Parts: sequence; C-alpha cells; structure tokens
Amino acid sequence: MKKIVFTDLDGTLLDLKSYSYARSREAVEFLQNREIPLVFCSSKARAEQLAYQEALGVHHPFIVENGSAIYIPKGYFKQPIPFNTYHINQFEVIVVGEPVETIREAIANLRENLRLSFLCYCDLPAEEVSMYLGMDLNSARRAMQREFSESILQGSLSQRFFMELDKVGFRSIPGSRFQTIVSKQAHKGRAIELLLKLYEQEWGEVWSYGIGDHVNDYEMFKAVNEPALVQRPNGEWAVLEEPCARLINAIGPEGFSQAVYAMVGPQHRQAV
Ligand SMILES: [Mg+2]
Repeated sequence: MKKIVFTDLDGTLLDLKSYSYARSREAVEFLQNREIPLVFCSSKARAEQLAYQEALGVHHPFIVENGSAIYIPKGYFKQPIPFNTYHINQFEVIVVGEPVETIREAIANLRENLRLSFLCYCDLPAEEVSMYLGMDLNSARRAMQREFSESILQGSLSQRFFMELDKVGFRSIPGSRFQTIVSKQAHKGRAIELLLKLYEQEWGEVWSYGIGDHVNDYEMFKAVNEPALVQRPNGEWAVLEEPCARLINAIGPEGFSQAVYAMVGPQHRQAV
C-alpha cells in the first residue's frame, strides 16, 4: 500500500524560533528516496511553503493557510480532479476557505464597530513584520502574501470580537505566536480528506501519517491513519482534545525525524 506523510511546518518540520530544517532534512531525504509523498499542511502561505519546498527539493501537493486551499502541481495526478479548481501558475487549486479580501473586510468592520485597536499583517510594513516574526525581510514578505487568511499580530481583542467573528462566518485559530483568522470552512482535516481522495483515485488504498506539534494540528491528526505529536520547545506535548496521537520523545524537527523513522521507517530500515 502506498504511503503519504502529512506534516505541519512551524515547530514540526521547522524549528519554532529559527525556522531551520537542519535537523529534519535527512528524514525528508529518506522519504524522497523512497518516493513517499511529503505533503506540507500548515498555516503558512503559498509563497512561504514554495520557498521551503524548493530548498528541500519537495514537489508534492501542499495545503496552505490552515486548510484553506490545496495546491496541486499540474499533471501530478493522471486522473482528472473531480472537484472545482482554478489554475494559477503551474498549479491547480482547490479552495476550501474564503479569499483574504473578504476576511480583511470583515476584520476591519469589526475593529471599527467594536472600537478595538489591533494590527494585522496588512497594516504593517514588511520591516516591522520581519522584526515581529524574527524572520529576514524576504521571508516576512512571503509570509505577508496571504490569499485565504489574515493574522492579528498585536493589540487587544475582546470576547465580543470572537463572537461577532463567528456570526459572520469566520474563526480565529490561536497559533504559536498570534491569532489567525480564516473562514469557518477552512479545515486542515477536510483539506487532507479531499487530497486523500485524489491519491486513492490514483493509487487505490493508501496509508497516511500526520506529524504536528500543536492543538491546531488536531484536525490533521483525526484525518490520517497514524498521527504523531512532537514536543514543544519546553519538552512538553500540546494537550489535545482527545489523546489520539503517538507521542514522540523529541522536540520540533528532531521529533519530525524520529516520527518518520519510527512510523514509516521500519519497513525500510535496512536501506537507512
Ligand atoms: Mg506548528
């Protein structure tokens, strides 16, 4: 049976603070050498994920902005895609969430009506976002190229804000660093299920793994056959709604590698 590995990026494949993949690179190559697809499934935007794909030589579909859309390289699947798609550059895109313009408009309305003061990506220059995220300027520019979500970086939010947000069809995802607003339709698990249908259409039955570090990976864990939770930088595991994932005894990218070798590896051990 063909295998597919889904992974979160920040705090899993990438170090939470430095965004380094030095400690996960070999495990990525391990999967590449065995032609096991590695599918990124993260809050990061397309431009950011493409930069990491390029650096790691990964060329598989990927899920952006907390399950808001699936990007599939053209020609990746031989069978036609039985969902609505649009084309952009070399990709076919399945949209699960809502466009960023709609989200920004809703946030701006609430900020004004509830007299709140907070700042989003779109309110700040790239220089400031880069300082805030601890990223270089080019990485910050990529992070700002949102298509289906908006992050609130600083300022005060009230309980009322979240209630009103819910009424107009959006939800807030508390991330490792800040709140990200997406459509209520956007869902990592739903996006994974759609993509798994395409893999099954192509290959027949498949076996899926999911690796993450945070409560916001719970949706991914519920959608795969074998979920794995890596440790946070303090050496603890995120407390999930329901303890459904295998606990990996290592932090971030180190944990990603251990999860790959422990779950996907045994059958290939002699080849390591
Ligand atoms: Mg994470």
